Order: sequence, then structure tokens, then C-alpha cells
Amino acid sequence: MRSGSLPSQSGQRDRSRDPANSLVYSIPTANFGRSIRAGVVTGKQGEREAPVGDRAFFPLESGLLAEATGPVLREAVAAAEIHPLLCALALLSGDESLLDPRFRPDTRLGPSGPKPCGGLPPGLVDEARQRALTCLESLRRRPDLGTRVPSPHLLERALDFTTGGAHHAARRMVMRELDVPHDGDAPRWRLGSLAPGRGFRVAVIGAGMSGILMAHRLRQAGIACVVFEKNPAVGGTWHDNAYPGCRLDTPNFAYSYSFAQNPRWPSEFSSRQAILEYFTTLARRFGVIEDLRLGTEVLRLEYREREPGWTLHARDAAGRESAHEFDAVVSAVGQLNRPSIPAFPGAASFAGPSWHTARWRHDVSLAGKRVGVIGTGASAYQVVPAILGEVRELVVFQRNPPWMLPTPRYYEPISAAHRLLLVGLPHYANWHRFYQVWASVKGRWDLVRVDPQYRHPVSVSAANEELRQALVRHIEASYAGRPDLVASQVPDYPPGAKRMLRDNGAWPAALKDPKVRLETRAIQGITPSGIRVADGAVHELDALVYATGFHAADFLVPMQVQGVGGRRLHDWWDGDARAYLGLCMPGFPNFFCMYGPNSNLSVHGSLILFAESQAHWIMEALHAVLSRGARAIDVTEEAFARFNVLMDEQNALMAWGASGVSSWYKNARGRVSQNWPLSLEDYFSMTERPQLADFRLLG
Ligand code: NAP
Repeated sequence: MRSGSLPSQSGQRDRSRDPANSLVYSIPTANFGRSIRAGVVTGKQGEREAPVGDRAFFPLESGLLAEATGPVLREAVAAAEIHPLLCALALLSGDESLLDPRFRPDTRLGPSGPKPCGGLPPGLVDEARQRALTCLESLRRRPDLGTRVPSPHLLERALDFTTGGAHHAARRMVMRELDVPHDGDAPRWRLGSLAPGRGFRVAVIGAGMSGILMAHRLRQAGIACVVFEKNPAVGGTWHDNAYPGCRLDTPNFAYSYSFAQNPRWPSEFSSRQAILEYFTTLARRFGVIEDLRLGTEVLRLEYREREPGWTLHARDAAGRESAHEFDAVVSAVGQLNRPSIPAFPGAASFAGPSWHTARWRHDVSLAGKRVGVIGTGASAYQVVPAILGEVRELVVFQRNPPWMLPTPRYYEPISAAHRLLLVGLPHYANWHRFYQVWASVKGRWDLVRVDPQYRHPVSVSAANEELRQALVRHIEASYAGRPDLVASQVPDYPPGAKRMLRDNGAWPAALKDPKVRLETRAIQGITPSGIRVADGAVHELDALVYATGFHAADFLVPMQVQGVGGRRLHDWWDGDARAYLGLCMPGFPNFFCMYGPNSNLSVHGSLILFAESQAHWIMEALHAVLSRGARAIDVTEEAFARFNVLMDEQNALMAWGASGVSSWYKNARGRVSQNWPLSLEDYFSMTERPQLADFRLLG
């Protein structure tokens, strides 16, 4: 914590309930589900999986290494991320000398991004790789390779090696991210034994990354749940965003559940298809498929005070409305799912097809067409290079340019040589993921934090200015020889005030392409044949793509939520959504939000890390209710207010809060209602378990 007082300085996670303190990895053994095709779960209905928690989902194939030839092994070691490889080999071989302090990485992100090979000079990298190769050759044929359990001592050494000892402050978070012990967040209680004879049902709204996780945790505790999903398939944002070029823009291994790690990602920034398949597969493996009501939108939630609980009104794909009773409700609807299409004058008159990136018209061919793309955010950045080959002409309408983060290998697939280690060498994929997670724990947070003493027309601190200059240099190099583009592409706001976007050269190449025109004049209106801009010029267009983002600040819209005393959530929020820990609001007992207000991350961490904390906290809150014979839990107005004062103080100290530039991080009032301003460790510790002093338990 930097400043401000925590609303609930959480205690330690209650590890006394953990039977397992042993440092044991799960070496995946189960067979990975095969019966999945894109977006469709084809597993048998009614097939019930035993509670998972002691089982992994993605098997390794350690036999692959035994069969590899010498040159193949050498290629694999050359392709590997050297530090995770040294850790994996030390754990497997017991050879601590591989964790030589001279090889220790520097995982801090500099202005130019991650340091290649953890900042080691080339000579040391060569030495480390040679040592790794020798070790790998000596142990790859061991029959016990896939089952060796590393000692706690070696694990500590490997952690010290990777983090320089800094992990001790974030120890429990680190262990969860390493998956030691396996699935440590799985509830260690079951409804049947905690509250014998008591029925308790939970509704989960949304079957994306958060909803699937939540339903899994509820199932692990033996709590019946129903998952309502408005779409015809699971996947949430990865289902919705089927536009050409859609892929992750955060490192993929870190963007996966800590307890269901996948060594087979096709890329470090995989395509939408691979991610959708991951979540779809796990929904089936977790058994969540049994609890799904697909194509069913939740319309209204009403709290019942006399017999505490919720009545949920839903409408299915056939338009039939139904009411259901639940003891608790978890909203997992996300922040970025209701497309925002600006109300440009004359928009309805446009004669050609037009659509939003999240509602891609696959039935419309762009071949030979003059296409307009409005927006230059994350979606436009991916879609423009992807459709360039198809269109006749492309006009990109830009209001503010984004900052580009140099990411040369953004589109690159994971090589066969690297895959051999990820899939064949036990521990390597875990440590590869951990290395990404650890680098993101700080991420670029320090570089976008406001220094109140610093004075500069754009940047918010000396570090922010150093980052800005590095990114300006990248822009100048990317558009060398095109001063017009350099001028239009250097943002006039500080790095971090809006989302920074991955650049491997595809966007600059697109803007320089003769088929593309960049339009920076304001859009005045839309005509039947195109778009009219500020000085009256009209761009003639055959098709129009709105890459204009989402109604992120309108949390839970269009659902209506009515709590205690008829309190209507959206009236009460009055256009300024707030929550306690992003999770709950006073007067709405047993109603929890995942990825709610102020729980978005933009310069550090992965949203999955937050989702795991949120699901864990909700399970702890339900445990508090059930173990005390209560019916519901409600955050106090005081705790809620205190928490939001902290959020506002801290967001004002981040580039996105200090800058006046428009972004989806802010609501219409200009308040940052989306972003989390503190560290990942802060959120992890605050969500270890509910601080009961901040709550009322209702009988
Ligand atoms: P966005 O970042 O909100 O970008 C919207 C774009 O539309 C901006 O360039 C905005 O201009 C422009 N715009 C909006 N209203 C306009 C108007 N009236 N006139 C002209 N231009 C207008 O939306 P997004 O690109 O869909 O991305 C949203 C978020 O989704 C991202 O930040 C990211 O978190 C997530 N996302 C992730 C991925 C991924 O992981 N691969 C991909 C896509 C999106 P201004 O900049 O001037 O406001």
C-alpha cells in the first residue's frame, strides 16, 4: 500500500483449513477433452465430473524428450525462456548450481518493455543455455521424469532466483500462481457438512472467464448453481469478439487459470479461437455445462426481504419469461460487452452495411469494398491489419491515437522447438507462466504513477516521461520518412492514460499502405454514401465498421436490480457505479459482482488473477453466511464509502485519473469507475477473506 487507509486490512488467508502445506505440483495426467469444436460444447449432457481440485487438465508428454535427437534438444534449449528453464531443470535434477546468482533475471519492465533473457549479457546467456542443455541431456530419459516431486528447499531457491527474494511479500499470491499446492483456492468445505440439510442455490449470470470459474468453485463446494448466459455458447468476450485478427494482447500463459494451466498455447498472444476453446473445454471438464442455461438473458433481480434471497427473472431464446428463486446471485457479465455506437447524425441513412467489431458480419464480404473503420483502440488495432488484404480502400477515422508498445513477436506462433519443452519437460510450462505473472505483478504500474512534485505538460512523472520518450522514438522509427504520420500518431496525453496497444509493425504498415487513408478531422455526420468530416469533405464508403468500444461504465445494464427496501441499483448509482472491492454494494445482500466497478487492470497483472481472487472471496463470504447459520451478507454503507474514497484518492494518482483524455476507464462524470489503482498484492490480500466488521450478517 502506498497511501490512504485500507477499508479492511485483511488478515492472512486462513491456511489453517489447508490440509496441504506440502509443496507438491500437479503434474498433469488427465486426458484433455477432445470433443470440443469452436464455441460449442459437445460433451454428453448429464455426464457429471467428480469435484475437481486434485486433478489437472492438460497432460504433459515427457516421453517426447526421450525421443528427441541431439540437434532437436539444442534447438529447444535455444528457443526456451532461459530462466524458467533453469528453474525447471534445477527442480527436476536437484542441481542447485543451475540457479547461479550470476544468472538471476531482472524482470522489471523498462521503458522499452521486458529485457530479453532477463537482461543477462549474451556471454552469460550462452553459458546458462549450455548448462541447461547438459542437464537436460542427463535427465531426459529418466523413467520418473514425469512424477518427480521437487523438494520445498529447491522450490524456495527457484523462487528466490526468479524474484530476488521479493516474493516473500506476496507469498500466498505467488504460490497460487505457481499452483502450489495444486488448486489451493478450491474451497475446503462442502455445503452438506458445513450446513447439513440446508438448501442453498446460487445464480451465476454470464458464462465467460469469470462465470465459468465461479460456477466451478460453487460446484467444488457442493452448492447448486445455475449459470444464465444470454449468448448461445460460453466464452463471454471471446465468444462475442469474432472480428478478423482478434487475439490476446496480454501474455497468454498468464491469461489462464492458475489451477488449469495449458502448456499448449499456440502463441504467447493466442488467437481468439484458441482462448475460446480453452474456456469452452474447461466449462465441460468442470461440469459447468450441466448448469448452463444458454440463450437466456437475465432481465431483473428482486431481493426478497422476508425470506432473504433473490427472485431472478429471465427470458430464453424463444422469448419465454420465467422466474427463479436463489439464495445468492453472482454477476459475471463483464465490463466490455455492450457495444457503444456513437449517435452520429444521419447514421441510419447509410446505404451500405455497418456493424460493430463485437458483432462482426461474417456474411458480408469486404472484397473490393471501400471500408471505413471508426476508432483506433485495441479492436481497431487488430481488425485493420487483418482486413487490409481484402478491401479496396480503407479509411481509418482517428480521434486520439493510442500509445504503441513495441512487441515484435506479437503474432508469432510458439515454435515446435519451444513447444517440445513446454509439453515435454515437467515444471517448465508452470515456470514459464510464473515468470510472465511475476513480470506483470509490477508491470508498468510504476511508470504510470503520478509524482505530485513533477511538472511536465504531458507526463505525470520522470519515469512516465522516460517511457513517453521511448515510445515516441518507437513511433518515429515506425513512421520514418512520413512526418505526417509521426505528427498524427504521437499522443498528446501521458502513456497509461488509455490502454497501450501491442505493436509488431502491423499497424504502422497498415497506415502506410497506399490503400489506407487516415482521417483525423472530426466526424460530422454520416450520409447515405459515406462519412462527412469537419470541413465538409465526404469519404465515400461501401461498408462501415464501428470499432468504437463498449458501454463499460454502465455496469450491469440493461439488467434491473432491486435490493433492500426497493433500492434500485442503477437509480442509486445515478450514473456513477461503485462497489466495495468491486464485489458488492450495500442494500444488495448476497449479490456479488465479478469484474465490477474499479476492478479492471490495465498496466499490470492479468484479469484472471483478479477473477480468481474474486471467486475465492465470494466463496469465503458464502462460508461466513453458511457457517454462522445466517441467510445473507451485506456490506455496510460506511465500509463501502471508505473503500470508494480510497479508490478515488488512488486513481487520481494514476495517469488515467490525472489526464483529461477520454477513455473507457472513466464514466460520464469523469470519475474513474473501472480501474484498480493499487497493486495486485493489495487486491489479493484484501480479498483473502471478508472482514466481517465491514458487513452485516442477516438472519
Ligand atoms: P476503445 O478502446 O474504447 O476504443 C474506441 C475507439 O473508438 C477509440 O479510438 C475512440 O476514440 C473511438 N471513438 C469512440 N467514440 C468516438 C466518436 N464519437 N468519434 C470518433 N471516434 C470515437 O474500444 P476497443 O478498441 O473495443 O477496446 C476496448 C477494450 O477492450 C480495450 O481497452 C481492451 O481492454 C479490450 N480489448 C482487448 C483486446 C485483446 O485483448 N485482444 C482486444 C480488443 C479490446 P478516442 O480514443 O478518442 O476516445
